[in-house]
Amino acid sequence: MPTWQLACRAAREIEFAVMPRRCAFCGAARRHEESAICAGCEADLPWVSEQCTGCARPLAAKPDDGVLCAGCQDHPTPFDVAAAPLTYEFPVDAAIRQFKFHRKLHYASAFGELLCKAAADLPADIDALLPVPLHWLRHGIRGFNQATEICRPLQKASGLPVIRNVSRIRRTHYQSGLGSRERRRNLAGAFAVRGAIDSRHVLLIDDVITTGETCAQLARELLAHGTQKVSVLALARA
Ligand SMILES: [Zn+2]
Ligand SMILES: [Zn+2]
Repeated sequence: MPTWQLACRAAREIEFAVMPRRCAFCGAARRHEESAICAGCEADLPWVSEQCTGCARPLAAKPDDGVLCAGCQDHPTPFDVAAAPLTYEFPVDAAIRQFKFHRKLHYASAFGELLCKAAADLPADIDALLPVPLHWLRHGIRGFNQATEICRPLQKASGLPVIRNVSRIRRTHYQSGLGSRERRRNLAGAFAVRGAIDSRHVLLIDDVITTGETCAQLARELLAHGTQKVSVLALARA
C-alpha cells in the first residue's frame, strides 16, 4: 500500500476513535454499546416499504413474487437482487453528503448498522463483499472510500471476505445531471479485475444507487471474470 494511503488510514482511524458517542442524526448522547442512531431518528428515516428486487426502485405496492418493475422488464439489470432500505431524501441525502464531502465520519457506523439490518433479507448464498471502488485519485482527495467505510460493520458481523482485486481504472465524471445513455458512456471500461473472482455470489456495497449504472457496470465485469451472481446493497435509492 502506498505511503499516502497508509497515512490516510492512520488519520482516519484516529478520527474514528475520538468521535463522540452520539446519535448520528440528532446528536443525543448514547452509551457506547447502543445503536449509532436513536430510536426516534431511526423511526423517522425515509424507509422504503416496497421495492423492485431487480433495481431497488421504490414501488407503490407490493409486486407479485418474482415480478420486476417495468424498467427492469425492458432493460434487465445484471443483479440477482438489488436492495436499499432508504430513499435518497431528507435527512438521508444531507447526511450522505455531509459524510462524503465534509468528512462527517460519525455517520459511517450509523450507515453501517442500517446496512447490516437490511442485509438480513438478502440471499443466504452471498459469499463475498465488494465495496464499490473509487478511483485512486478521488480516494486520495477524499481520504477514504465511503463504500468501504459503511461496509465495515457488515464485514465484521457477517465474517464474509472482501474482494480486493478490483479497481476503478477510469476517473469518471460525477454521474449526477447525466442522462442514462451518457451515464453508460461515462462508465464504460471504468472497472478492471486483476485475475479471477473465486466467489460465486458477490454483494456490491455502495452508499447510493442513482440509476444503478455504476453497479451494473461493475457487476458485468465480475460476471465476466468468473462469478456467477452479483447482488447489490446500498444505503439509499434515488
Ligand atoms: Zn437521534
Ligand atoms: Zn426494477
